Amino acid sequence: TSFGFKEVGEDEKSKLVGNVFSSVASNYDLMNDMMSVGLHRLWKDRLVSKLNPFPGMKHLDVAGGTGDVAFRVLESIKNVGRRAMQDGLTEIEEDTQIYICDINPHMLNVGKKRAVELGLGEERCLHWVEGDAEALSFEDRSMDGYTIAFGIRNVTHIEKVLAEAYRVLKRGGRFLCLELSHVDIPIFKQIYDYYSFSIIPAIGELVAGDRESYQYLVESIRRFPNQETFARMIADAGFQKVEYENLVGGVVAIHSGLKL
Ligand code: SAM
Repeated sequence: TSFGFKEVGEDEKSKLVGNVFSSVASNYDLMNDMMSVGLHRLWKDRLVSKLNPFPGMKHLDVAGGTGDVAFRVLESIKNVGRRAMQDGLTEIEEDTQIYICDINPHMLNVGKKRAVELGLGEERCLHWVEGDAEALSFEDRSMDGYTIAFGIRNVTHIEKVLAEAYRVLKRGGRFLCLELSHVDIPIFKQIYDYYSFSIIPAIGELVAGDRESYQYLVESIRRFPNQETFARMIADAGFQKVEYENLVGGVVAIHSGLKL
């Protein structure tokens, strides 16, 4: 009656493991949609529109396992390419490369699987790379753009991540970070606090059967530096023209900087 792995053949085992991954993926999507009421999609759109992707660019999306940001960058580049063709420009550089780096191979598998579902399984410009944001395997000055969405809050050393972002970007390259941030508007702050301390852990328990992880999530948002402090950290890493945009009153913020 026991269901130990010992009794399961290799084929069945990989099927079981596959099921675990897809349940992680669907859970992850569902939770993102529920907790942000679908808004995370618009926030990611906004992030990519600030990037101004262009055909031929080398882009690095860090903590990007699910592919959510990378797929948008690719889509945006294809649109720019199409418009350029319509304008009669035929010499479009084709050498676009988008690297998706994540420390967790399971998350990368989720992204790869999703790429297949989106018909992007054969895309030669998408590269899935297992790696740590604090010690990237990419060369100095090799990227035109760097994005990190909902990834920097949970790393051990934010400064190291920023230093690595700076190192791999070319001169003129843009750094963009989308992250849950701090709400500072009276009344809205009280509503948001209630939502995050009471509702989010409850949703976590209900949907994922995991109250603690979601409680941790809320606490990690609290601990993350506020918009101004984080902007200073980005500038301290060497970036210029550092600015940020609050979305939904600071529930999330997009920070940007240029390596000049
Ligand atoms: N960017 C995706 C999105 O917005 O949907 C995924 C965000 S998910 C909340 C955070 C991701 O960061 C996870 O996939 C996790 O594996 C990854 N991660 C955590 N620490 C990391 C590190 N030090 N280096 C690279 N990725 C990391």
